[in-house]
Amino acid sequence: MTYWTSSAQLLRETLIEGYLENVEPLRVGVGREPPLGAIVDLAVIRINYRGASIPYIPGSSLKGVFRSAATTLASHKGLKVCSGLSKDNCMELKILRDPEWGEEKLGKRVERLLREGRNQEAMRDFWENACLLCKIFGAPSYIGKVSFSDAYPIDERGNPIPVRMGVRTGIAIDRKTGAVSRKALYTVEYVEPGARFRFSIRCRNLPNYALGLLAATLKMVDSGEVKIGGFKTRGFGAVRVREITFKSRDYPEGGSMMKALDEADRMLDLSDLELREGWIWAEGDSAWRILQRLEEVWTSVQLKS
Ligand SMILES: [Zn+2]
Repeated sequence: MTYWTSSAQLLRETLIEGYLENVEPLRVGVGREPPLGAIVDLAVIRINYRGASIPYIPGSSLKGVFRSAATTLASHKGLKVCSGLSKDNCMELKILRDPEWGEEKLGKRVERLLREGRNQEAMRDFWENACLLCKIFGAPSYIGKVSFSDAYPIDERGNPIPVRMGVRTGIAIDRKTGAVSRKALYTVEYVEPGARFRFSIRCRNLPNYALGLLAATLKMVDSGEVKIGGFKTRGFGAVRVREITFKSRDYPEGGSMMKALDEADRMLDLSDLELREGWIWAEGDSAWRILQRLEEVWTSVQLKS
């Protein structure tokens, strides 16, 4: 049996691209947000791009946002999923497979099997024990099937789009005494609404229901239900998805059917759509319609918890 989690065989490539346009102030900071009331100047994260220092949204931030929202959706569906944090992920599960080895942590066992060249068994044990979120987004020593690019304020040709920055001044309150502290003022930098960040989400071997889970998450981002960056409770972080493109291609043979990639999956017939260069390829509303149909697959499939 071929597991879509395996990287040995290419079954499908899927690409979702477009812009994230912030409709509220947006700030993605460096590292963790300091605690409320910390007296620091909070700068947004920047990167050097063609000689200029520009703000951006790291792919790792986007991945975190998507994983966390997808975890909520999967739990609502009744699936048992881990948080993906270092102490609480499926690789920490203890399983008993070889009596001579006793109980082993899944991660340790997978690593041992790979070292011994027993790749099929390693993949089987991961497949049978890891949760859907780990299979899609990855776990320690397993890279995952979806990757998020860093999102830069650039156009399709890679030229920077101007971004307006803003600064707000806050007052730091001592949390113990409730008094305004001596060095009371701090400044928060943010991206003014209307900036466009070009994003791309690349998926490899994801079945239709898993793409549907991502689609549902993307919709939550677009609706503002799921926000990006810091200061979310203070009216920051809502973005809209603009100029979306959806591309997908099955292997070895392409075509306008998106095959079912495992026993639980359902195939999706997109023969009403014209192929472009062998790809299922849709833009704007047409792309959203495909995402909607993928989401319906996610909603309707029965998955083992
Ligand atoms: Zn997991």
